[in-house]
Amino acid sequence: MKKLSILPLVILLSCSKEKTNPTDDYGYLDKTFLPPNSKAIVLLDFNGQKINSPLWPVDSLGIAGISKQGQDLIFTGVLSYFSPFAIGFTTNEQTFQESALKLKMRAIVTKDNWTGDKSGIAHTGSIEWAEAPPCFIFTNVTQNVEVLARIIAHEIGHTLGLKHQSSPDAIMFQPARSAGNHTNSFFSVIVSIVFEFVGYKYF
Ligand SMILES: [Zn+2]
Repeated sequence: MKKLSILPLVILLSCSKEKTNPTDDYGYLDKTFLPPNSKAIVLLDFNGQKINSPLWPVDSLGIAGISKQGQDLIFTGVLSYFSPFAIGFTTNEQTFQESALKLKMRAIVTKDNWTGDKSGIAHTGSIEWAEAPPCFIFTNVTQNVEVLARIIAHEIGHTLGLKHQSSPDAIMFQPARSAGNHTNSFFSVIVSIVFEFVGYKYF
C-alpha cells in the first residue's frame, strides 16, 4: 500500500517540474538538424560569444538568457522557416566548427544589445564572405520565443543576401522605425510569414 501512495507524488513532481518558470534554467540545448544535401550550416549560439571581427564594434557578448525549453522552441521555429531549403542548423559549437560546408553563419542570440534599439542586425550577404561575420539577435527586446524565431529568420535571411521587403506579411519586412524599436505589437500584426527570395542564389 505504501508503494502505491508514492506514485501520485512522483507524477505531481514531474508535472511541477514542467511548469518551472522558463527563466530558471538557461541550460545548454544540444540540437542539430543537417539535411544530407545541406549547402550551408547556421549555428544558433545562445551561450555567449567572444567576437573577433573588424566588421562589428563588439568583442564579448553574454548569453541569451532563454531557457533550454525556450531555445528548443526557437530552434524548431527557425527550422520551420527554412524547411524548403538545404540549410542545416545546430546549437553545437563542435558540429559547427567541424562542418566541411563552405557557407557558415553564426547567429548570436544575446541579451547584450550593443545597438541600443535594434532587435537584430546582420550584414547582407555575409554568409559568402571570408570568415563570415556573425549576425546578432537581441533578447532584451523580447523573450517571446515565436517572435525571436522570426527575428532570427529575418537576420539569417539578410546573411543569405535578402534585403527588406515592402510587403508587411513578409518576414523581411521592415517598417519605418518611428519610435526606435521593433516591438511585440509590430510582430503581432504579422499574420503570415513569407520569404521573398530576391537575389537568392543558393537555395
Ligand atoms: Zn532587416
